Amino acid sequence: MESLSARPIVWTRETAIAEKRNVWTALKRGFRRVCPRCGEGKLFRAFLKVDDHCSVCGLDFTPHRADDLPAYLVIIIVGHLVVPLALMIETNYSPPVALQLSIYLPLTLFASLLLLQPVKGAVVGVQWALRMHGFDEQNPTE
Ligand SMILES: [Zn+2]
Repeated sequence: MESLSARPIVWTRETAIAEKRNVWTALKRGFRRVCPRCGEGKLFRAFLKVDDHCSVCGLDFTPHRADDLPAYLVIIIVGHLVVPLALMIETNYSPPVALQLSIYLPLTLFASLLLLQPVKGAVVGVQWALRMHGFDEQNPTE
């Protein structure tokens, strides 16, 4: 039988207060593309490349595992914006297909590119706030 943890977690009032992480605040900071802990350091070093650590507070960003979730979320968000718009315009005005495609395709592309980095930042922020994938200093092996 394997042991659950090599180090026992000792919770005190001070550690509980110091370790409190607000999910909503971290999500908003990640969406703004800044560090979810301090809200000042940059989260990204390239368009979709998360930096290794925060330049202000030194938080290690390497445990994040955003993977494909930001892309799925962007597809859902943009799809729920563009499809109802296209259906409403088609049912009310019936413009030519070429005109519709010349509007919807660039709109979908630019909206997706615009949302991809903020959504990825929000995902990383939520992962940090929920102590997922090694963002928990008390149990760094996960
Ligand atoms: Zn920071």
